[in-house]
Order: sequence, then structure tokens, then C-alpha cells
Amino acid sequence: MKTRILIIGGGFVGLRTAQLLSRQCNGYEVMLVDKKREFLFTPWLVDAFAGEMKLENVTVEFPELAKQDGFTFLQAEALYVNRNTKAVHVSRNGAEEDVPYDLLVLSHGARTCYYDIPGAQELSYPLKNPKDAERAQNAILDVLARASKASGAERERLLSMAVVGAGPTGIESVFAIKQFINHQQKAGKIDAELKPRFHLIQGAPQILPGFPDSVVRHANTELDRQGIQTLTGEAVTKVEPGVIHTVSGKTIPASFILWSAGIEPCPIDIRPPVVMERGGYPAVDNYFRIDPSIFCAGDVSGFRMKGAPVPKTAQTAMQMAPVLAGNILRTLAGKKLKPFRAGQKGVVITLGDTGVISLKHALTIKTKLAVPLRNAFYLLRFKQMTRR
Ligand SMILES: Cc1cc2nc3c(=O)[nH]c(=O)nc-3n(C[C@H](O)[C@H](O)[C@H](O)COP(=O)(O)OP(=O)(O)OC[C@H]3O[C@@H](n4cnc5c(N)ncnc54)[C@H](O)[C@@H]3O)c2cc1C
Repeated sequence: MKTRILIIGGGFVGLRTAQLLSRQCNGYEVMLVDKKREFLFTPWLVDAFAGEMKLENVTVEFPELAKQDGFTFLQAEALYVNRNTKAVHVSRNGAEEDVPYDLLVLSHGARTCYYDIPGAQELSYPLKNPKDAERAQNAILDVLARASKASGAERERLLSMAVVGAGPTGIESVFAIKQFINHQQKAGKIDAELKPRFHLIQGAPQILPGFPDSVVRHANTELDRQGIQTLTGEAVTKVEPGVIHTVSGKTIPASFILWSAGIEPCPIDIRPPVVMERGGYPAVDNYFRIDPSIFCAGDVSGFRMKGAPVPKTAQTAMQMAPVLAGNILRTLAGKKLKPFRAGQKGVVITLGDTGVISLKHALTIKTKLAVPLRNAFYLLRFKQMTRR
């Protein structure tokens, strides 16, 4: 049997690693396992949610990519890793089986975290995939249809919406909701007279934690300019139908709630257990290794640089993939591995039809060009990964 490199999770790091390895791995089998059938280009999900592009254009089917790039694809959900037998136990088509590996890559990403806040999961909408986006769009349309028939306090209540979490995705999402509603109003699908109000609720003392002050300032200015009420230092403690409660005792009416307040690793048990970083992310060395035959990278990894976790972004995941693929090849060749060093070249945060560009944290500008520049950059990335 050929030496098998098994990759669990076909996101930015897993898919890219599979592609790079299958180009160079003569004599090895590269197998990618994902519970979904398609690769999701998440940076465009917010744009698609806003109605700026079609939802079906943000995904590409894995079987097509596997055929084009020469790796094997298996649609299955990984349940646990057995390090003793070197196999991943998966569930597929209602049955369970073991998939053996010689080298394993865990790159199964992160999911929305609700921190056990009562009502948060049941009464809010996440935005992690096209189905989430569609459900959230339908919920907004439903609420606004009811608002147009209501009057007085009930109408006001229905017109109040909230995004919980003011990291980059939360910020981009609150503007995306506004854009979506504008598009629907222009298309005559909802009452053009309706004037919804938006709240952005953040537990941390400021929006965009970890971002340069200049980016935070520009984002705050745009939030103010667009009439989005921002509450910082107000961790959500409870969600009830139509109401968000915060730590200081505030209550915020919200007929629609988008939850973007944090992530946690997607669960796959590792047996026997390995050392975990805070939050349940597997600890790895500088080469992404959990043990000599298991690598872990991307959002699910506890990779740290200078003692701090690296940003959990597609940008970081894309930087990780070539180093990870190289280290797998070096492992197979018995060569010395190379450490990974994350380096952020810049950030772009879109704020509706404008945005902030920050280069190397030195130069920051707010410009309408941010949107086309970001789209051009992501188009290159998308083409690189999908050859479309
Ligand atoms: C709405 C949204 C917008 C974003 N926008 C940006 C942006 O503009 N720029 C940016 O840099 N980052 C952005 N991000 C963050 C970015 O998407 C992630 O950091 C990136 O996708 C991480 O890549 P990954 O390969 O680690 O994991 P993912 O891309 O999450 O991929 C993980 C894969 O593992 C699969 N999987 C999970 N569990 C299992 C299992 N048990 N068995 C089998 N398969 C499994 C999943 O189906 C998925 O395909 C955004 C995220 C979201 C949600």
C-alpha cells in the first residue's frame, strides 16, 4: 500500500496543503476528508450575504478539485483519531469506519462559540456557511415583512437588529445586513419606508481587538456615520426572544441577532489525549506537529508565536499551507523541518461600500477603493485555489 497522507478538513489550510502535496508527492497517496462536499471561500461569504454576489459562487465542489489536482476526496465526518492504531474513525453514509494514515494533518477549522450564554445559540443566527447566510437573509426578510404590517412599539421593536461580536467578521456583517436590506428595498421586495436600526455589541473594551488603533478609529467613525449604535465592554449574558441582556444590566431590543462573538475548535477527539492550549486547541511545535506523525494547522491549531496565538484568519491559514506541505515532504524524506513564522502584510476591513486598508500596521487609509482592491486580491486567491 502507498504511504498515505490523510488530511482532515478541506478549508484554506487543508485544501491548499492537499493541492501542494499532490503536485509533489510522487509515490504517496494524498487523501482529503471533509464532512461537506464543497470548499467554502469564507471571505466572500459576507459579500454574498450582503447580496453583492451569488451565494453559489463562494463554494467549489471538492470532487472537481480532487480530480483537477490529483488527490483523493472522501466526504465523511471525522469523529476521533486513534494515535495507537494510526487511524481516523469517520462516519460516512450512516456507517462508521477507520481510515488509516501514515501522516495525518488536522485542519478541521473552528466553529461558532456561544460560551454557554443562555438563549444565544437558539435565538441568534451564525454566519459560517452559505446555508447560514440564506437562513439569516430569510429571517431578516420575515422580520421586515412583519414590521411593515405592524405599528407603534411593535413596529419599532421589529426594526431593531443586532450583531453580537465586533471582530472583523462582526463588523463586516453589520454593514452587510444594511447592504442586504438596501438591495431588497431597491428591488421592491420590502417596504422602502422601513428604517431599521442596528446595534453592534462587543464584550471587549474596544471593537476589532488586536487591530491597529488607526483601523479601529476609522471603523468607529464609519459605524457612527452610518448610525450603527456600538456598545463596547458589554458582554452578553442572556438572550431572550427579541431582547439581548448585557453584563451591566442593559437590555437591547433585537428582532434579528447575528452571532459573531467568537470561535472554538471543531470537535474531533484525539486518543490518547494530547496537550491542549487554552480554549481546547491542540498544542503544536514550531513545525505544526502534535506528535511525530500528526500535524495540526489553521484555525483549529494552538500554534503560538512568541508565546501568543497567531491570528485565526484565512490569511494565516494560506501562509501555513506551504510550510506545512514542505514539512510533510521533509518528514517523508527524513530531513530537518522548517519552523513557521506568521507575518501579517496588511489588513482590509470592508465597511459596506467603503473600507479600511492598513499596510504593515504603518499606513492606514479609509477608501472606497478598499472593496475592489480586496475583491481583486481575493479573486487571485480564489483562482489560485480553484483554478476558476
Ligand atoms: C463569515 C466569515 C468571513 C471571514 N472572512 C475572512 C476574511 O475576509 N479574511 C480572512 O483572512 N479570514 C476570514 N475569515 C476567517 C477564515 O475563514 C478562517 O480563518 C479560515 O477559513 C481558516 O481556515 P482553516 O483551513 O483552518 O479552516 P476552515 O476554512 O474553517 O476549514 C475547515 C474545514 O474542516 C471541515 N471539518 C470540520 N470538522 C470536520 C470533521 N469532524 N470531519 C471532517 N471535516 C471537518 C469543515 O467542513 C471545513 O471545510 C472569515 C470567517 C468567516 C466565518
